[in-house]
Amino acid sequence: MSEIKNKIQQLENISRQLEPSTKERKKTREKIVDYTEDFIENIYNINAFNLSDNTGEGLLEVPVSEEPVEIDRLITLFKDNVDFPNLNPASGGHLGYIPGGGLYNSALGDYLADITNRYAGLFYAGPGAVRMENILIRWMAKIVGFPKETVGNLASGGSIANLIAIVTARDAFKIKAEQIPNSVIYLSKEVHHCIDKAIRIAGLNECKLNFVGLDENYRINPKALKNEIEKDKKEGKIPWLIIASAGTTDFGVIDPLNEIAEIAKLNNMWFHIDGAYGAFFVLSETGRPRLKGMEKADSLVMDPHKGLFLPYGLGVVIVKDKNKLNAAHYYKANYLQDAVALEEEPSPADLSPELTKHFRGLRLWLPLMLHGVKPFRAGLEEKLLLTRYFYEELKKIEGFEMGPEPELSVASFRYIPKTGDANKFNQLLIKEIHKDGRVFLSSTNVDNKFIIRIAVLAFRTHLQTIDLTIQILKEKVSLLLKNWI
Ligand SMILES: *Cc1c(COP(=O)(O)O)cnc(C)c1O
Repeated sequence: MSEIKNKIQQLENISRQLEPSTKERKKTREKIVDYTEDFIENIYNINAFNLSDNTGEGLLEVPVSEEPVEIDRLITLFKDNVDFPNLNPASGGHLGYIPGGGLYNSALGDYLADITNRYAGLFYAGPGAVRMENILIRWMAKIVGFPKETVGNLASGGSIANLIAIVTARDAFKIKAEQIPNSVIYLSKEVHHCIDKAIRIAGLNECKLNFVGLDENYRINPKALKNEIEKDKKEGKIPWLIIASAGTTDFGVIDPLNEIAEIAKLNNMWFHIDGAYGAFFVLSETGRPRLKGMEKADSLVMDPHKGLFLPYGLGVVIVKDKNKLNAAHYYKANYLQDAVALEEEPSPADLSPELTKHFRGLRLWLPLMLHGVKPFRAGLEEKLLLTRYFYEELKKIEGFEMGPEPELSVASFRYIPKTGDANKFNQLLIKEIHKDGRVFLSSTNVDNKFIIRIAVLAFRTHLQTIDLTIQILKEKVSLLLKNWI
């Protein structure tokens, strides 16, 4: 054999290790499946939060090296260092931030997507994969009342989805460097911080950011919005973008979408709604009427890894005007000359910053198909009612001061001790809850008040979880009051 062939053969012998045999696949797969089965079987009994000094340092003991490591060792490493410390987002007791859970069938969708590895960036390469993603986008458009022609993108999360929308609005209004200082974006100080981030990344930080006045429930006050637009116009500024939230992160309240849509239309502005948290409540009977006006936006973000309980990694943007989304994201490349012609289905690569991407459609399509929509609707309605129940029950207990009435599935509260500093007390209270760990709540700070909030959106959260939460709150308050001045 020639020398080169010899060398190639040697390399092949080693590189073929990347294709495990049937037996090896079975062994590794069964270990992983055993672990995940054990995880799911115990999920209702393990903590939502393990306050821990372990920050995963154990991983450093097994560095990346030239040699393989046994699967048993890796699973132990994962269990101790990754799957133990701090927040357990798969738990129904995760009632902090905005939870979701992580549907099993979605994991199987990812498994299928990863093994077959179909190309979901271009219709030419993976027509079925792209069509599947577009079918899902059109389904989401339909449930929120967007027209048939709506396009969109399955992005990795709400932050990127919002960025795509803001960049699209920017280019649709031709906001170039020159116009930036004179252009105005209207938003609420209750927007998710990813909006501020997206504005900055999009190079729009030097626009005038007009934080509009809010009503007593922390929603945009449409009168204030109207006045600000008129004022800015009189000063020669150009109002071009309004950003509203369909479900704010702090309080889960919905900005008055209908009235804002009206104002945007009258002033020829782009209307973007961040519905990362709340948009999917449109599937529920109680949520739908509250989200009226959502259908009037130019662009909307909704996060299946929140509202459809998927594992992390899917946030969606939908845009009514295909040309606008395309104009902000088109590309040209000689090496892609085969992927030509006006295609039956738009390609993600033409409508987003990505080219090669994870085939995210399957992680949504598979659970939607296997379960049907019905249990998703029921789950969302259940979460709304659970939040209402929590709110009513806690209100009955002396000492708790409740925040705004929950519009969706976030409620906020604090405990006011008869004496002493309430902020201090609630800081201690949240610490006790975290130390306990059976449920996880998060806190926020509004108008210098330290506030505890509960967000009910994990699919594993049920009545039992809420009763337990109330019981834990009662326990921890009595405990703290024992040593309170
Ligand atoms: C979670 C959230 C985001 C950010 O989405 P990610 O998926 O975490 O990137 C944006 N807006 C709202 C209202 C959210 O709740």
